[in-house]
Amino acid sequence: MALTALEIYKLLPKTNCKECGLPTCLAFAMQMAAGKAGIEKCPPASSEAKERLGAASAPPLPRVTVGTGDGAVVLGDEVVLFRHEKTFHHPTAIAASVSDTLGEEALVERLRRITALSFERVGQTISVDMAAVRCDSSDPARFARVAAAALSGAGKPLLLQGPASALAAAVKEVGASRPLLCPPPEELEDGAKLAASAGLPLVARARGLDALEAALAKARAAGAKEIVADPMPEDAGRAVADSICIRTLAIAHRAREVAYPTAFDLGGGFPNPFAAACLLVPKYASLVVLDTADPAELLPILTLRQNIFTDPQRPIQVEPGIYAIGKATPSSPVLITTNFSLTYFTVRSDIEASRTPAHLLIAECDGMSVLTAWAAGKFTAESVAKILLDGGIGGQVEHRTLILPGMVARLSGRIEELSRWRVLVGPQESSALPSYLRRLPPAAFLPANG
Ligand code: SF4
Repeated sequence: MALTALEIYKLLPKTNCKECGLPTCLAFAMQMAAGKAGIEKCPPASSEAKERLGAASAPPLPRVTVGTGDGAVVLGDEVVLFRHEKTFHHPTAIAASVSDTLGEEALVERLRRITALSFERVGQTISVDMAAVRCDSSDPARFARVAAAALSGAGKPLLLQGPASALAAAVKEVGASRPLLCPPPEELEDGAKLAASAGLPLVARARGLDALEAALAKARAAGAKEIVADPMPEDAGRAVADSICIRTLAIAHRAREVAYPTAFDLGGGFPNPFAAACLLVPKYASLVVLDTADPAELLPILTLRQNIFTDPQRPIQVEPGIYAIGKATPSSPVLITTNFSLTYFTVRSDIEASRTPAHLLIAECDGMSVLTAWAAGKFTAESVAKILLDGGIGGQVEHRTLILPGMVARLSGRIEELSRWRVLVGPQESSALPSYLRRLPPAAFLPANG
């Protein structure tokens, strides 16, 4: 169990020497209990305190890195059970499988489809994270060749699934890319020794939590350092139950023996794999493997993942400024909204749907939506007037007419007073913008002296 601030405090020197950067030992203990500081920041701590507190302050779920550089995938390293307690840091990695029995053309096409699965949503690029290479051929040399082709063709970190002999052959080809090794349960020890000698992460697989605990112990004993746990469930219900159980034991009970990131192989005939993936993304899976590269099957899961792993305390923001939509001209309408990413992309797509070129002003509002920003005093008549007068839009259009979101219609009079711009009150909901813009008479945006 995690130590409380008081329990930590009792182990500290209690001299309030401030070497840790905090005014008192109690303040430091509170930071440690919250997971925001480690005992290494307290040089005078006794070796007994360092040993006990070092273990207690280690992350409840270890971090496992697959791949290298910017494209590396981090599994685990979470500290809470529920997003509202703090945040989730590392989204469930999605791997699409590649069989080593594919012919050359089919392999190239499969890798192309995996790579092509990348698109932008609310300002973020989302895509499949890994390629899972399966050894279905029983030929280590062939498996190694396909692993090398997958690495260069998909350009993503690899999960290598096969017998220890095939993994050993593939490690010679692609070991430097830091793949995740996944031997079958009966070859776990050999796979773990290979992972230990190559310094690579390993998936320990065993059906059921008791067997999994024994498999994890075996992998540790064989020298594996970075381990991912796969409880090999037979269906979606068992998968979710196992996933919740492992994460709860790790975070709430600090049960180190099973505290590992989790992997779930939903390929090879797993029943309802996409329903299972949709349940496992919010319920703690660190990695899911699917036997598909079909966008129709993968995009909903990727979208769901983005929704779950967007930190609600840190809304995605876009840069404040002036955004031209379509071929905006000096006589195009001017609209304004806030820099909350979801608001921006919604308003933008609704303007695009109207086929009316326009200038969209984005106000800096700490990533809040229009009503929230208004309530927080960040989207005010004064701030809007300042954007109109100093933000540069006056040099880009000949008219002086602003379309204001209908939800803050009450600001219109004061904005007109302060800026000398005419304000048209737009619709309450962005979805009404297409018909609103199409109905606007061209005379609404004539030059100021026209
Ligand atoms: Fe206390 Fe250690 Fe911080 Fe000094 S460095 S104030 S002893 S916690």
